[in-house]
Amino acid sequence: MDLYEYQAKNLFGAHGIPVTPGEVCSTPDAAHEAARKIGSAVVVKAQVKTGGRGKAGGVKLAATPDEAQARAQDILGLDIKGHVVRKVLVTEATDIAEEYYVSFLLDRANRAFLAMASVEGGVDIEEVAATRPDALALIRIDALAGVDGAKALAIAEAAGFPPTIRDQVADVLVKLWRVLVQEDATLVEVNPLVLSGDGRVLALDGKVTLDDNAHYRHAAHADLVDRDEIDPIELRAKEFDLNYVKLDGQVGIVGNGAGLVMSTLDVVAYAGEEFGGIRPANFLDIGGGASAEVMSNGLDIVLDDPGVRAVFVNVFGGITSCDAVANGIIQAVGALAQRGAPVTKPIVCRIDGNNAVEGRRILTEFNHPLVEMVETMDDAARRVAQLAAAGAA
Ligand code: GDP
Ligand code: MN
Repeated sequence: MDLYEYQAKNLFGAHGIPVTPGEVCSTPDAAHEAARKIGSAVVVKAQVKTGGRGKAGGVKLAATPDEAQARAQDILGLDIKGHVVRKVLVTEATDIAEEYYVSFLLDRANRAFLAMASVEGGVDIEEVAATRPDALALIRIDALAGVDGAKALAIAEAAGFPPTIRDQVADVLVKLWRVLVQEDATLVEVNPLVLSGDGRVLALDGKVTLDDNAHYRHAAHADLVDRDEIDPIELRAKEFDLNYVKLDGQVGIVGNGAGLVMSTLDVVAYAGEEFGGIRPANFLDIGGGASAEVMSNGLDIVLDDPGVRAVFVNVFGGITSCDAVANGIIQAVGALAQRGAPVTKPIVCRIDGNNAVEGRRILTEFNHPLVEMVETMDDAARRVAQLAAAGAA
């Protein structure tokens, strides 16, 4: 998960990295009030999860609260590279003497971390890397050794920071490394890190990518999730603890086990070619258990997607045997009707594994007009693609 600048800088501040005081606002009036409280010139900054906001007109200086209000009015609602600005950060303006760049990131290919630092910051760092590679120091960080004061000084030296501020820069680097480790981030970046007119080193911008796999051990990170940003169906799936990924096809997929679901996506896409390019609408793994409750949650989520025209339930009875799975599907169809969301799209089921014969018998006997049982995965994929294609008419 990427953080907004204001969230990144809040984390920086919490770990002792010098940042300017500020407040995030969603209206011009709030920006006026924030600037009044700060009591000096401010910068009004679009909060969107993309870089290059400055060039796009999303970062503006304001000398007075009235100006801050006007700049917020200009910036709120702006579209920056497809991101609509809903919040601005109003923060104390800094008198900038120099702009630098520092970051730490996970370097998967080398099973290590990488420090990047340059005294030519502020601008697009990719451009510096491409046009003046010598101006960007790249230093490998051993994951176990990490970054202590000595390592931080070595980075500051390699990047050519002036000796007068090396200690300050090294202090920021040690703390930035702590942000990466203690918050379980895969990227922490400051661009620009600045030297102010009065000789202080400050983080004026921040980019942080948190490792979602470590989300469970950071209760506080839940507050950093921007719920407006997430697809509502994905949000519900998360609440049900289901592994759901939205795709752009027409066949809803429900399966148990990530491997089975992935191969189901493949066979549906393959079978769908024959019917004018029918494709999977989602990935949904309901897990090994496949109980009735989990099945109805899964079906509920997949049927909720307006793009879905037919559903393929592909379950291998292992932990739960096929008769229980079949009963689960039947109960799920009943439960959905009771929730006021009865099944209105065809569902093709293929169940195999433990006690498959009995499971299939139960589903066949169910005899629901929208629920079909098909024995093999390939045949079921063909059938569901055919139904999805027909559903378009
Ligand atoms: P980005 O364009 O999305 O990376 O946004 P930044 O936060 O990096 O801001 C872009 C540029 O705006 C910086 O490189 C600075 O040149 C300028 N800027 C940002 N904050 C201040 C400030 O407090 N004072 C001054 N003078 N310029 C600033
Ligand atoms: Mn920046």
